[in-house]
Amino acid sequence: MTELERKQDRAPIPADWTYAPAPESRDIVRLRERYGLFVGGEWIEPKESYTTIDPAHEEPLAEVGQATDDEVQAAVAAAREAYDDGWSSLPGSERAKYLFRIARILQERSREFAVLESLNGGKPIKESRDVDLPLAAAHFFYYAGWADKLEYAFPNRAPKPLGVAGQIIPWNFPLLMLAWKIAPALAAGNTVVLKPAETTPLTALHFCDVLRQAELPAGVVNIVTGDGRTGAAIVKSDVDKVAFTGSTDVGKAIQRELAGTGKKLTLELGGKAANVIFDDAALDQAVEGIVNGIYFNQGHVCCAGSRLLVQESVYEDVIDKLKRRLTTLRVGDPLDKNTDVGAINSAQQLEKIEELVESGKAEGAAIYQPPCRLPEKGYWFVPTVFTDVAQSYRIAQEEIFGPVLSVLTFRTPDEAVEKANNTPYGLSAGVWTEKGSRILSMAQRLRAGVIWANTYNRFDPTSPFGGYKESGFGREGGLHGLEPYLDFE
Ligand code: NDP
Repeated sequence: MTELERKQDRAPIPADWTYAPAPESRDIVRLRERYGLFVGGEWIEPKESYTTIDPAHEEPLAEVGQATDDEVQAAVAAAREAYDDGWSSLPGSERAKYLFRIARILQERSREFAVLESLNGGKPIKESRDVDLPLAAAHFFYYAGWADKLEYAFPNRAPKPLGVAGQIIPWNFPLLMLAWKIAPALAAGNTVVLKPAETTPLTALHFCDVLRQAELPAGVVNIVTGDGRTGAAIVKSDVDKVAFTGSTDVGKAIQRELAGTGKKLTLELGGKAANVIFDDAALDQAVEGIVNGIYFNQGHVCCAGSRLLVQESVYEDVIDKLKRRLTTLRVGDPLDKNTDVGAINSAQQLEKIEELVESGKAEGAAIYQPPCRLPEKGYWFVPTVFTDVAQSYRIAQEEIFGPVLSVLTFRTPDEAVEKANNTPYGLSAGVWTEKGSRILSMAQRLRAGVIWANTYNRFDPTSPFGGYKESGFGREGGLHGLEPYLDFE
């Protein structure tokens, strides 16, 4: 008997070839049938409600409150009471303890939250597990560290909290956007009323359990769910500051509403980022960066690299590699850890993507979609590349917010800058080149709040994020992210 035969002889014979259940499976989330509004540390029964669904299967998940004006006012009153009754005067080191606790509980419960995020939002589990959850916890850890050091962060400026912050967030990174908003607000000594997006309320609602576990004083964080009407009620209410992430149109409406009121405002709005590939770039890495830039989270990313600018001399090469890479992307069940592109967040968003893609075809761009079998139920869109795109086409100008890339070309760095900046937005950009000096010169000339070099879609709580022009104003993350929640003498 050979050594190999002996080993085989000793190997146990598997009785069953089925896989063990995935550790990130639907069973680990216990959904309630109905959720109330989280006001003053209690669940209150909403007057109206709606059904939130799983966009991958179009199946109902739970009933959620549609907060009315009165209910929003009750939440703001609870936040005001908590602010006056102790939170604003609590020593920073005590506030920090709560933030550290929240961060640790999120880490401990990260698997459950990751599944919930994918279930309600449609994003692939490998993204919610490896990006959304670790970053959300990291934001709480990071701002916990600042809570007792505000005097050092802003020396000689006597930083003071503002009061009650009204926060309105979108559906693309529900828990992460919540963390970006709540962590700096609490670290600075404010209290909060937050509204998650209509289509993705569940992680924010389960986060209320985390707040209870952390024994955060009642009323410091209040969560009200509902559609745009609830958001508008927050903006109109007696809050001291509004922090909004979402579309440019709604951002403009909020700015008009707040003009002259003296309330502080930060807006994180849309983008149409240029991802610029120079001919000396490491092309295989660049192709990975392009894929990550636009297909990450189904392209539902405000800073997505949705306009690819490729230097003409490497155009054919890049497009060939990109198309080949696209054929390997797996579209499907968000809870399958091998899925690269999950479900589109809602029927409405799918319709918007389809409409813009049709406009691209009609205007004359060439479309490429890899062969791909989509699930029968749910909202899906095949990863798409448009070539032969002119700058005037809608697909080169408007935010598609889906897995759709528009490719343009350039010959010189000047032309690249000109085209990259030719947009009403200014949120982010990417530069791919092996030349350090070119990275620095491009970074100076690109009109974007965040510029990645030889990478894309990297986030870190220590790093400020925000835009220029129609991408909004104010920064989130880093020290800069504390400033909009503070008043100075
Ligand atoms: P919205 O701007 O409509 O939504 C963002 C948040 O604002 C949601 O919580 C929304 O509630 C709320 N809201 C809606 N109307 C009002 C209002 N009048 N006053 C106050 N709050 C309001 O974005 P959508 O979800 O409709 O997405 C549309 C487009 O916006 C996308 O296609 C994309 O282009 C862009 N977008 C950009 C994001 C970014 O990160 N920069 C994020 C999300 C979207 P509700 O959920 O009920 O609508």
